[in-house]
Amino acid sequence: MIDFHAHLDLYPDPIAVAKECSAQGIYVLSVTTTPSAWNGTSALVLPGSRISTALGLHPQIAHLRRSELGLFDTYLPDTPYVGEIGLDGAPEFKKYWDDQIAVFEHILQGCNRLGGRIMSIHSRRATSAVLDRLEAFPHSGVPILHWFTGSRRELDRAISLNCWFSVGPAMLIAAKSRELVSNMPRERILTETDGPFTQVDGRSAMPWDAKRAVAQLADLWKIPVEKVDQHLNSNLRQLTSDL
Ligand code: MN
Repeated sequence: MIDFHAHLDLYPDPIAVAKECSAQGIYVLSVTTTPSAWNGTSALVLPGSRISTALGLHPQIAHLRRSELGLFDTYLPDTPYVGEIGLDGAPEFKKYWDDQIAVFEHILQGCNRLGGRIMSIHSRRATSAVLDRLEAFPHSGVPILHWFTGSRRELDRAISLNCWFSVGPAMLIAAKSRELVSNMPRERILTETDGPFTQVDGRSAMPWDAKRAVAQLADLWKIPVEKVDQHLNSNLRQLTSDL
């Protein structure tokens, strides 16, 4: 099972969640929202677990944490994974657009300079703006658009820019999203939960809820759950084969 976008450090008991992920052998990309969370979140990578930590600076707090870009640059050589990064065009964050752009471009430039990173990217109400930046920094690495909510035309553009997609249980409930997912290349899809920020059955999603997304993909692709699992594991191997 794969949860390619979870905020392990933001659960009430992060160590308990990390232990359960380790016990279940779940691959988790543990994303961070600030560079200053890097050390603490990295400590959740338990020996023998399949947890990896991503270095991030979330667009919704770009205006508050722009001052941590120096710290971001300090840690970037230590990890092949970057996230959560990106842009958020919702009205309450659009007013900090200049900060968001400055932070996102700085990060893409840094990734570019170091030969590319695997990047988990937020693009809520900002798909075209995110794709514009990815196009401007074509050597920044492999973008994985998490919870893609763009249009069909934007999806086609994202695919042509070699984007991957991580899809979760909450996303796969919506008919519009299911339609988009059915048009994503199957060899560029991974599962995610975005826990604890998303809800499953009225509670915070846990990384092991990624299995719901696997079942939803099986339903969408009309193939058995075991085949979806094999497929996703093969995608992850492919994505990380150069590391
Ligand atoms: Mn997130």
